[in-house]
Amino acid sequence: MSFDIDKIRADFPILQQTVYGKPLVYLDNGATTQKPNIVIDRISDFYRTTNANVHRGVHFLSDKSTQEYESSRDFVAQFLNASSSKEIIFTKGATDSINLIADAFTQSILKKGDQIIVSALEHHANLVPWQIACQKTGAELKIIPINEKGELIQSEFENLLSDKVKIFSIAHVSNSLGTINPVKEMIAKAHQFNIPVLLDASQSVQHIEVDVQDLDCEFLAFSGHKIYAPTGIGALYGKTEWLEKLPPYQSGGDMIDQVSYISSTYAEIPLKFEAGTNNYVGAIALAEALKYVQNIGLKNIANYESELLNYATQKLNEIEALKIIGTADKKASALSFIIDKIHNYDLGMILDKMGIAVRTGHHCTQPLMNKLGINGTVRASFAIYNTKEEVDKLTNALLKAQQMFS
Ligand code: PMP
Repeated sequence: MSFDIDKIRADFPILQQTVYGKPLVYLDNGATTQKPNIVIDRISDFYRTTNANVHRGVHFLSDKSTQEYESSRDFVAQFLNASSSKEIIFTKGATDSINLIADAFTQSILKKGDQIIVSALEHHANLVPWQIACQKTGAELKIIPINEKGELIQSEFENLLSDKVKIFSIAHVSNSLGTINPVKEMIAKAHQFNIPVLLDASQSVQHIEVDVQDLDCEFLAFSGHKIYAPTGIGALYGKTEWLEKLPPYQSGGDMIDQVSYISSTYAEIPLKFEAGTNNYVGAIALAEALKYVQNIGLKNIANYESELLNYATQKLNEIEALKIIGTADKKASALSFIIDKIHNYDLGMILDKMGIAVRTGHHCTQPLMNKLGINGTVRASFAIYNTKEEVDKLTNALLKAQQMFS
């Protein structure tokens, strides 16, 4: 399919509304994306026609529901180019996926003196679970620093690599600055020390092609709601040999094989990691959203969004008092900025009154903001349905806000 922006916009009912009498300009896609009709309809159709708990019943609906759930798993595997559907675990989202791995490593691998590497760009979701893992095991957290453009300093990363490192967990794309990290090269370097790598793809799967076999990461986490699917669903990819050796995270129904009053054996992967009634409707809607993205084509999406980001960067750079935070050579979707003498929160409030939704504050990256010596930024983050006209509206609104403050 070619990139037909009018058709794409028409797919998203929420975009057709006005706020405060102005057409909605939704530029908070890094926080969550809007949902196309096809995903919304899939959820209500499923509840109207198919709903029954999965993996449990012998009856018609339960079987149909299970088949749809498992074929959604197959689709997620195909979307990420995993070598098997067994390597896909449905979770609540990226935070849940990362916690699963951090907990499994805490239980079975990490010990005093070990090290974990993360980067200075991480979302709290890929930092706090590792801090807790360190508190519980006595392992130590090592942070890859950034340069003034918001890129990871590769020589510093190489200096951190050693046999002591038991896991390296890194964002593919920074949610605050938009930096695309050179993860393929970094994963290869980590592998020279046999270090497994967890890729936080929360801000990449919706913008650029992600192929787990090509990247060769051991684990990958993402959230459905940032890729046009509902909240409360996401996935964790893991290489078979790793998922097989890690212990379960949560326990209860569905994740077991045999249970006695004394002890239990566990199900094979992926069910070993899916305790309880999972969000199977969410998983089915996630597959529908991924199909929608795949139909448009990630190459088309990456090209379109990158042109939009370049245009926005150029327009915003024309505003004298505005400073873009994060000027990495390779960026996706997010454009963070501050304006002299105007607090990011005030800017966000003014933009809102003009119908423009942006994010303000620390974007769940407090250590990064501290490092940059700022209390936060305004972040415009783009998705497939945004347009250059919307960028113009943002630029004009910022100029107006500046006048109001001068
Ligand atoms: N990592 C990154 C890079 C993110 O941007 C986010 C969400 N802002 C998360 C992790 C956490 O995602 P969720 O809240 O959907 O679990």
